[in-house]
Amino acid sequence: MHQKLLQTLAGLACCTFGMSALGHDSTAHYMANEGLMVEHGDTKILFDPLFRNSYGQYLLLPEEMEQALFAGVAPYDGVDAIFVSHHHGDHFSPGDMVRLLREQPNIKLYAPNQAVIAMRSESSNSDADLFDRVIGVSLEYKDAPVALSMEGLQIEAVRIPHSGWPTGRLDVENIVWRVTLNEDTTVLHMGDADPNDVHFARDAQYWNRNNPHMAFPPYWFFSSASGRDILSNRIKAKRSVGVHVPVTISSDPIRRPAELRGFDLFTIPGETRKISAED
Ligand SMILES: [Zn+2]
Ligand SMILES: [Zn+2]
Repeated sequence: MHQKLLQTLAGLACCTFGMSALGHDSTAHYMANEGLMVEHGDTKILFDPLFRNSYGQYLLLPEEMEQALFAGVAPYDGVDAIFVSHHHGDHFSPGDMVRLLREQPNIKLYAPNQAVIAMRSESSNSDADLFDRVIGVSLEYKDAPVALSMEGLQIEAVRIPHSGWPTGRLDVENIVWRVTLNEDTTVLHMGDADPNDVHFARDAQYWNRNNPHMAFPPYWFFSSASGRDILSNRIKAKRSVGVHVPVTISSDPIRRPAELRGFDLFTIPGETRKISAED
């Protein structure tokens, strides 16, 4: 009996070791506002990493973090791809993105066409080759989601209106990116999505498959009943970490508005979360 127990324990240890050896765990590294990096093995992707406008209420990247990003030093060495949610100053700076692609020639960029057009007007003739690494997505509201891929990444994109729908910001191409790293870990970045189920109900089957291991909704999904319902019943992420948190909201849950106390939020640049791909 003891022999059997030992074998069982050895088997468990073996499997646990095997999984970590294969690198099944991923890590999300918070930058600022909706900027973050997801890392799985050697694969690294960034969402909304470069922006200049805090609008007086959101975090900007700390100086050292920004320098490391441009220089391509740890943890921002070997970044494979960047995803931009939308062309707003608290998510995207076209001139800085041109500069980053110029200085880091192995990074590919995925962005809505509005953002790509803004980058073209910030670039010079000598930057023409750089746009070979820029993949613009052109999606209208209610278009079916699109799928793209590159080595190590399966990429899906759908346009979900910016918050303010149906009266404001209707022209903004806000893209929700669902990305699977190394056929193992799936994450969802939502930009400034509007938390109304009508946008998600139309693609119910799309949301029902490939449920993310971790979603990064703007924090207002947690403080609205329909936002919580979308996260639970459409997106079905195993875990969600809220982003776009105003600086007035404390990193200490106890000191937050009551409706946000029970949720996980990214509030401190450099903080991380483990993403478990175990089912
Ligand atoms: Zn926005
Ligand atoms: Zn925003």
